[in-house]
Amino acid sequence: MRQFFATENQEAISFGSTARAGLRPHSDIALTGAHFVASSLLPTRWGKFVAHGIADKLGKEHLVLTLGEISDGEPVLTRIHSECLTGDALFSLRCDCGIQLRTALQNIGDLGRGALLYLRQEGRGIGLHNKLRAYGLQDLGLDTVDANLQLGFAADARDYSICKPMLEHIGVSRLRLMTNNPAKVTAMNDLGFEVVERVVMPASRNPHNEAYLDTKERRMGHVFGEDEG
Ligand SMILES: [Zn+2]
Repeated sequence: MRQFFATENQEAISFGSTARAGLRPHSDIALTGAHFVASSLLPTRWGKFVAHGIADKLGKEHLVLTLGEISDGEPVLTRIHSECLTGDALFSLRCDCGIQLRTALQNIGDLGRGALLYLRQEGRGIGLHNKLRAYGLQDLGLDTVDANLQLGFAADARDYSICKPMLEHIGVSRLRLMTNNPAKVTAMNDLGFEVVERVVMPASRNPHNEAYLDTKERRMGHVFGEDEG
């Protein structure tokens, strides 16, 4: 066991192995308003990823997970995932974030190559506690769009501009983007990235998120696969 840890540690700090693992000790890329902080290996059940910490100008701590050689110019299977504590970590059935996160990591692991950008913009950008306020209004019958509007927020307050320095840092410019949200494709195009393919994600309907998914489809332009109903 002791030897195992020594080997892992050597791999994390040795420069040669670091390059093979896709780590970048420090980047000279100009990260407008954002900066690279640290990277490390992050083994998961789907593969041994490299985690890259990138902070934005407000000090928010974003994360990129990469697997395999991704800076060779070929399109990279990519998920841009906005934080959802209740769905990602607490198994909530009110949304489909958790299953999308796991599916994305599994797809990348199966392929042995890809990237996941984990953006710290909880609750479509309004924050965890405001999301609970919106959930409370939804418990009273409002849909997810009207609940946000009633609280004085935009229906979707997410900002994807941080993706630019994140993708530049890992050397990716062409994406096979895993999303059901065409607005995300547009956002990436607007930032100067080429989306060569939109990879459809499972909607994972259940009795608790059916109305939410219907609203995303009807009022927010999301497109779900034909088998999702
Ligand atoms: Zn969610």
